[in-house]
Amino acid sequence: PGEQLPHDPSKKTLVVLGSGWGATSLLKSLDTTDYNVIVISPKNYFLFTPLLPSVAVGTLSPRSILQPTRYVTRHKKRQVSVIEASATEVDPIAKTVKFEDTSEIQGLVSMTTVNYDYLVFAVGAEVQTFNIPGVKEHGCFMKELEDAEHMQRRFLDCLETAAFPGQTPDEVSRLLHMVVVGGGPTGVEVSGELHDFLEQDLHSWYPELANHVRITLVEALPSVLPMFSKQLIEYTESTFKEAKIDILTKTMVKEIKEKSVVLQMPDKSVVDVPCGLVVWAAGNKLRKVTQDLMARFPDAQTNRRGITVDGHLRMAGVPDGSVFAIGDCSATSYAPTAQVASQEGAYLARILTQLAKKDALAARLNALQDAPASEEAKQEVEGLQRQLAKAEKMRPFQYSHQGSLAYIGSDKAIADLPFFNGNLATGGVATYLFWRSAYISTLFSLRNRVLVANDWIKVKLFGRDVSRE
Ligand code: FAD
Ligand code: NAD
Repeated sequence: PGEQLPHDPSKKTLVVLGSGWGATSLLKSLDTTDYNVIVISPKNYFLFTPLLPSVAVGTLSPRSILQPTRYVTRHKKRQVSVIEASATEVDPIAKTVKFEDTSEIQGLVSMTTVNYDYLVFAVGAEVQTFNIPGVKEHGCFMKELEDAEHMQRRFLDCLETAAFPGQTPDEVSRLLHMVVVGGGPTGVEVSGELHDFLEQDLHSWYPELANHVRITLVEALPSVLPMFSKQLIEYTESTFKEAKIDILTKTMVKEIKEKSVVLQMPDKSVVDVPCGLVVWAAGNKLRKVTQDLMARFPDAQTNRRGITVDGHLRMAGVPDGSVFAIGDCSATSYAPTAQVASQEGAYLARILTQLAKKDALAARLNALQDAPASEEAKQEVEGLQRQLAKAEKMRPFQYSHQGSLAYIGSDKAIADLPFFNGNLATGGVATYLFWRSAYISTLFSLRNRVLVANDWIKVKLFGRDVSRE
């Protein structure tokens, strides 16, 4: 793709894979004058995942939580190439990335290779199904924008089908049973959002169905939200109880069928529970492109959770340190969250600036050392060596935890916040207001803030839109 890129042969090429939390945060902070920057991602936008469950129930419209990657890159000092494609193979020795256009419309060329000097690997993760039968076919995921749209369509279809004249009471009850699998923050937030829809809109849109809807949250572990403090887990459980959301802990989903979900109960008995919708929020696994890259360094890359990196986020095993990995595709001592990915991205932007400085100093030093030594040149060499030694000292990445926040429905949120070396656990309506303002203020652009605030006001005034696209 050489001729399409703003290529400057005197600069090194930085290839960034992904346009999610890690990559977007990197791009926002990066000084692009130092490099030829190429961003490759199958999505030409950044998705604000914390508000994805709100899209699934129609509180927010899909476009409000997207930010085109070109919106970020067009403000950069030096032009950045944005390519909508999936990276299919990284060769860390030849330093190349093979990528493919996986979108609906293909041109004459749909696969090619690019060389890099530095690679930032930020491809995130994908949904883990554990190869449980029926999950792919019948479950709704909650990871990508299309997942939320798919869930909204299915959910509204269940309501309309239940409202079909002559439906038997058992069938109505099945269609209106919504099962959410996974008691991590995604599953809890989806359950909370579903409840809000039912509570706030169902009574007015579908009065005859309102009392028949049930939500069940299924979790294999002994409790939901293991990453939150005990009192917030209890607060969530009691809020769900009030909201009539059933929580089944120590219960494993064994299969999803077209009209039911098969559960293994705590006493190991297996039951087939009829339901209309199953949302699968049971965690993530590595993408194939990540697994393939890790397999190139079998001795250094042994962590099944993701890419092992050093303190500067360089992939372990890569001989020249040219590959960095950030976000959910890497395995660090931190949880795979947006907060961690975005701090890693911002850190890497600083490291890359320092590397560019170091590389320029090293090049100048080489040129001087090859030239005949005059007194002046000797002095410059000494100066450059001192500067280079300074530039080589790079601080390792340090994560600063800003707290964990989750929406649990009924206008309530929970928050574990770091507080004077301790922890402040709060839950309730005030926390919810904090949740809203925290999220709206971390949205990347003013445009998104306006769109989200507008959607929230629209729902307060007119209720959610129940038309099915
Ligand atoms: P992602 O943001 O997933 O980005 C990966 C990028 O790589 C995407 O742009 C993708 O299109 C691209 N990509 C995929 N395959 C390829 C390929 N082959 N080649 C090139 N590019 C590729 N975390 C929090 O801290 N707080 C929250 O409130 C929160 N809420 C969440 C709610 C939901 C519903 C979900 C699903 C997650 C939530 N998270 C939250 C977790 C958070 O979204 C992730 O930890 C975060 O997205 C990780 O960032 P990332 O950059 O590693 O990956
Ligand atoms: P998760 O991995 O945190 O939770 C998945 C849950 O599903 C686990 O508790 C697991 O025991 C359960 N599970 C797996 N298989 C099951 C089965 N067959 N039957 C029943 N239960 C099963 O996944 P997540 O909630 O999607 O979160 C992923 C990451 O994103 C986490 O790091 C999380 O912190 C982050 N996140 C954060 C927020 C927030 O801060 N508000 C919101 C969403 C996600």
